[in-house]
Amino acid sequence: MIYDWSRKQAQINGNQIAVSLLDERISYRELESESNKLAGMLLKQDLKPGDRVGLFLEKTPRTIVAMLGITKAGGVYVPLDTQSPVERVIKIIKSSTPSMLFVDHEPSYRFQDLIHADRETGLMPWVRWAKEPLKHEGDFPPLFTYSDIKTQKDEPHQVTRNASSAAHILFTSGSTGRPKGVTITHKNVESFIDWAVPYFNMKSGEHTSCHSPFHFDLSTFDIYGAFASGSHLHLVPAGIGTDPKKLSAFILENKLNQWFSVPSALSYLATFQAIPEGGYPNLKRLIWCGEVFPLQGLKYWMRNLPDVEFTNLYGPTETTIASSYFTLNTTPDELVEIPIGKACSHEKLIILDEEMSRKNIGEVGDLYIEGSGLSPGYWKDIAKTKAAFLWYTNEEGKRERIYKTGDLASLGSDGLVYFHGRSDYQIKSRGYRIELGEIETALDHNDLLREYAVVPVQIKGFDGTGIGCAYVGTAIKNGALAPLLKQKLKDKIPAYMMPQVWKEFDRLPRNGNGKIDRKRLSDHFQKS
Ligand code: AMP
Repeated sequence: MIYDWSRKQAQINGNQIAVSLLDERISYRELESESNKLAGMLLKQDLKPGDRVGLFLEKTPRTIVAMLGITKAGGVYVPLDTQSPVERVIKIIKSSTPSMLFVDHEPSYRFQDLIHADRETGLMPWVRWAKEPLKHEGDFPPLFTYSDIKTQKDEPHQVTRNASSAAHILFTSGSTGRPKGVTITHKNVESFIDWAVPYFNMKSGEHTSCHSPFHFDLSTFDIYGAFASGSHLHLVPAGIGTDPKKLSAFILENKLNQWFSVPSALSYLATFQAIPEGGYPNLKRLIWCGEVFPLQGLKYWMRNLPDVEFTNLYGPTETTIASSYFTLNTTPDELVEIPIGKACSHEKLIILDEEMSRKNIGEVGDLYIEGSGLSPGYWKDIAKTKAAFLWYTNEEGKRERIYKTGDLASLGSDGLVYFHGRSDYQIKSRGYRIELGEIETALDHNDLLREYAVVPVQIKGFDGTGIGCAYVGTAIKNGALAPLLKQKLKDKIPAYMMPQVWKEFDRLPRNGNGKIDRKRLSDHFQKS
């Protein structure tokens, strides 16, 4: 179970710092004791096995106490993005139907927005997980508060010992405009951590980074990888992620041994040539996942840190953190393509054609993943689960459950797998997974628009894929509509989904079937 690692560290390594955020730090002993007490409190509140608990919380050590306490009590935590528009957060709350919401956001106007925007959400039982009272607490008192747990007994609760129970639900962009909840079990997380900790040779007393927000599954590796190895997890404070100097100082001053993030964060530091002279003497491993690391940035890092090991991890949330890896031996030259490598020991990568037959070496096909990282499916969405999680009869006639990634890939003659982009309208932009359909749905029912399409665009100097919106207005012309549309979108989609380029058309181009020709639109944006 995902709380067993920190429990073990509390027994053998209790005084060691488990998690810190700036001056706030918590030892393994405190982490164990506080999460035990929280579990006891939740059980008193009648939390039942499998009940969801929403975390409308910032990235702090206390949030990790909540994750452990909830799972010890048999619950399932649902991290919410406090930066997302209220409308989207409410969609996630309604879909996951939590029995209570943990809140700590300061200033608490966001919580206020949330409870006032929707009656049902406003009536939801809540827990004040901040150290101090919030400025505005709504009409109902909290069920209990962070300080209340101090009075509870420190008992090692473990309501469920079934590793196939859900541990958390991570919501990702959904093409129909409704975010999709990926259910992740204890076993899913254990499978990856059991591979990663020995592979990366993570050791007790090391210092590891936590750059990703808690609603992204990269942070699952940071948290539980640190606990499994007995490392000190350093939460990257909000705000410094966009300051290359501060981010670089964070790596240096905290003597980080391991850094793990999306490549965009690393490219950003490379653009500003932020690595200090002498590099980061303690850094042993630099790991990225989530998208292709543009070569220029990667080369900058490798040139400046010759003693660091560089690893590309690949995998979707649906197969838990990552499914394949490739560790580089030498700095790549211009024309080299970095593979996504080989499957981690608990997974298999399978490349198939449309008839579900294996592709030959060098041929591009659809990439499927098999193994113990596979999620049981999308939360309360049987149709989407059935469409993406399939049964496949392998060469030996054995039936295997596989996940269709939507990625295109080929197997090289070197035995390594290479990534060839997507077969659908999902993109990665600055590390964020975005279904372009979610943006289009947010534009729906708009009387200012006759037609529109949101397409991927390669923008010069922009990391990852950019987003273009092509539209035909009903009345307002000459570009005057785009600012109004942006204003409307702001309340529906997170800032990272906002199209960067807008273009007005008299009519959108169509292909032979009469469908909007998205390829032509993408090309059009490229040229202009
Ligand atoms: P997410 O669920 O946010 O982890 O996004 C999963 C998707 O990100 C995959 O299906 C790929 O399209 C892309 N992705 C993940 N890792 C890599 C990588 N190392 N290189 C290229 N694309 C990646």
